[in-house]
Amino acid sequence: MIKLAKDGGVPTRTKSFPEWPIFGEMEEHLLLEVLHSGKWGGTGRIQLPEAERQFAAVHDAKHAITVVNGTVAITIALQAAGVQPGDEVIMPPYTFFATASAALMFGAIPVFVDVEENTLLLDANKVEAAITPKTKAIIPVHIGGAMADMTQLKAIADKYKLRIIEDSAQAVGARWNGLGAGTIGDLGTFSFQSTKNINSGEGGMILTQSDEMADLAWSLINAGRVRSGEWYQHENVGWNLRMTEFQAAILIGQLSRLEQQMVTREKNAKLLEELMRNIEGIRVLDRDPRITRHANHLFLFKLVPELAERVSKREVCSTIGAEGIPVHEGYVSLNLNPAIIEGIREWTGETRTYSCPVSERACLKEALWMHQNVLLGDEQDMYDIAQAITKVLQSYS
Ligand SMILES: *Cc1c(COP(=O)(O)O)cnc(C)c1O
Repeated sequence: MIKLAKDGGVPTRTKSFPEWPIFGEMEEHLLLEVLHSGKWGGTGRIQLPEAERQFAAVHDAKHAITVVNGTVAITIALQAAGVQPGDEVIMPPYTFFATASAALMFGAIPVFVDVEENTLLLDANKVEAAITPKTKAIIPVHIGGAMADMTQLKAIADKYKLRIIEDSAQAVGARWNGLGAGTIGDLGTFSFQSTKNINSGEGGMILTQSDEMADLAWSLINAGRVRSGEWYQHENVGWNLRMTEFQAAILIGQLSRLEQQMVTREKNAKLLEELMRNIEGIRVLDRDPRITRHANHLFLFKLVPELAERVSKREVCSTIGAEGIPVHEGYVSLNLNPAIIEGIREWTGETRTYSCPVSERACLKEALWMHQNVLLGDEQDMYDIAQAITKVLQSYS
């Protein structure tokens, strides 16, 4: 007889997982350096270009441009790619709210295309059917740190002359066939919001291989100025969307920890995948072998349909939580979000509906995740997770 912790049994685990963020002397030193330099923002920066240089190098990108956050990074990348108000942008509904709200910020219209059953990534096979004369761009979202099928999406984009903006907020350091996240599409966007794998409190980055798009993105982030222009020479309608020198300093500190953390997360994620594969009632996601580097921002898994019909996700999460393992329910499918549908109606005058059954079912019933910090622990932590989940699922059998 299994006695669950939520029913007064002994929890599988009481030890906590690694705290996030992780920082040390390097961050302290860099922050004080910025403080004493008196150079906290504005132009003529020291830390900012260094953070951009390092971040570009991690992804083999030609250009990297810092920005206030990952949401605005998407908005600016869309504008730098030439997307105009009224243009349609294809994106998956299984993503953070900002992928869609960033487009709606200036009237670009989200068009939702469902995700793949076994990866929860944009289903490239369904993209062509959603293309209309108004389609201007595709935003693949590298959810959880796994890259979407960039080979097929690039082929579609080339065929229909569409732009690709890779929402890589969760994919710092990820690679597809050896190519860095954010460098395969026209532009890639990243977030350094507090929960992300690289964290500067808040912050964002845009990568691109295109000189023209880099210049335009830079201009839009710098009040419409041009890089070599005069201070009051504004050639585009842009805004001050710069991050501070303090954030850039933290970014440099955090980047110094990236490689080692990526190796740890990957090692633990691989082990956990193996362990979870053997748990009845669970399905781990497929990994495309062309993902030559996974960023492991989330450890995603699904309840099998038969179980998901009987037991609510919320109940499963709280029961596993009581065993000492932090598991989360995740997103609401964006095609079902009333604010997004209303936002689309305000710009188009139409109430548009999208059917995305895979994403809807994943959000309502099946998909669960753990955050990246649990993957920064040791092997025993992974065994504890598997043991707790096994115990809980056995109680439902
Ligand atoms: C975090 C996130 C964003 C938004 O980034 P912010 O820095 O919070 O604005 C966008 N897309 C995805 C997929 C994200 O996870």
